[in-house]
Amino acid sequence: MIKESHQIQKNSVKAVGLISGGLDSTLAAKVVKDCGIDVYGVYFAMPWGCCDKTKAIEAAEHIGIKFIVLQLDERYLEIVRKPKFGYGSAMNPCVDCRIHMFSRAAQYMKHIGANFVFTGEVLGQRPMSQMRHSMKKIEQGTGLEGKLLRPLCAQHMDPTIPEQEGLIDRNQLLSMVGRSRKEQYKLAKEMNITEFSAPAGGCSLTDKNFARRMKDTLDHGYRNFRETIALKWGRHFRINQNYKFVVGRDADENINLLRYAHREDYVVQFINENGPTLIIKGREPNEDLLAKAAGIIQRFSKSREEEPIKAKYFAVNNKNDVKFIKAKKITEKELTALKI
Ligand code: SF4
Repeated sequence: MIKESHQIQKNSVKAVGLISGGLDSTLAAKVVKDCGIDVYGVYFAMPWGCCDKTKAIEAAEHIGIKFIVLQLDERYLEIVRKPKFGYGSAMNPCVDCRIHMFSRAAQYMKHIGANFVFTGEVLGQRPMSQMRHSMKKIEQGTGLEGKLLRPLCAQHMDPTIPEQEGLIDRNQLLSMVGRSRKEQYKLAKEMNITEFSAPAGGCSLTDKNFARRMKDTLDHGYRNFRETIALKWGRHFRINQNYKFVVGRDADENINLLRYAHREDYVVQFINENGPTLIIKGREPNEDLLAKAAGIIQRFSKSREEEPIKAKYFAVNNKNDVKFIKAKKITEKELTALKI
């Protein structure tokens, strides 16, 4: 009889876990699930490819938890622009980023009446965001004090409220620590978890080239969130305060750049549409800019050594009004000076 009522109480405990598709968050979700908790896995759709949605879905299905996607938006860009706790190796505001994601997870926790939030963090695993003091700062910044559980290293942390209240059994939580991932791999084998994305490193904000583009965009203004999503494609050139050129490096990038172009942008292409597509970011470019843009697509095409080509151009919001412009060739020195 006592056992039954205990079971009923356990079944009513809900937790929100951050799921990235990586091994740590998958293990954390499995550990919490195995404690008899009803787990809601939250995946943050981050446009610059830090997490792996397919792997996250597979992980959620494999361990039998619910899966919810939350989209990052303009609010996140303001964090990238001016992080309270600074940047990591490039433009990655890891502490602020986590505070933002965990705060949104906290809102979701309240929304569904869950008891706590958990993550796959391991004490000491990452220099910026997984040191004890940063983990504390993150907890304080999210309004989740006492309700943010790190199941993989819980034995090294102060007991959280759900542990104190007996909603989850602390004895079933783990004591991982440090950068080595040996223990995680061992546990994955025991739990038959085989599908997960490679350890972090996929976040474009940690990439210095991407960071330069992001900084340029934040410094010169963006018109919507989609413009920052498109930063991962193409070669980028800053022409002046009001204009930027982006040139696709292959057919896929040409398609993506077109798809994500702002309605006020202009498109410059070869007449037969072979070769690179160039997007002029900025309103109503003059002839000189258009000729320069045509010169750049010629520079990155097979006809770079030939006479200046004639290119076509049109405004994204008026695709049928196609006009033509003669390319103005650009020197390597000029090109290098414009490169972001
Ligand atoms: S690496 Fe990227 S996604 Fe991960 S915490 Fe840092 S900024 Fe956020």
